[in-house]
Amino acid sequence: MEDCIFCKIINGDIPSYKVYEDDDVLAFLDITQVTPGHTLLVPKKHVADIFEYDADLATKVFAKLPELARAIKAINSDIKGLNIVNNNGQIAYQSVFHSHIHLIPRYTSEDDIS
Ligand code: 5GP
Ligand code: ZN
Repeated sequence: MEDCIFCKIINGDIPSYKVYEDDDVLAFLDITQVTPGHTLLVPKKHVADIFEYDADLATKVFAKLPELARAIKAINSDIKGLNIVNNNGQIAYQSVFHSHIHLIPRYTSEDDIS
């Protein structure tokens, strides 16, 4: 979709640090790292939010979470947990209206908790 920043990232028009890619999804580092390794998982098909998913797309996207979570955790033995966050709608703090799921690693140090 025109003027969608995440569609531009998917198309390669805007650079990103890719974490994972297949036919249906792209995962890349968030430009604002809540903690190191903060990753966004997005469907390649433009949907604004959870309200626009059908079951097939939901399976293609959300079913990737366990493997992606394990892959992120495996990168650094200091990662002890992971928040998975999905904001839907401006009232729910969504700021980019191409659906995305945050994966936010949590470390041993309390300094990383935010
Ligand atoms: P939301 O608030 O919609 O749940 O999260 C949007 C996220 O997209 C934010 O964490 C923000 O840092 C991230 N973001 C916004 N623009 C870009 C960009 O151009 N590149 C990357 N990698 N992340 C972005
Ligand atoms: Zn888009």
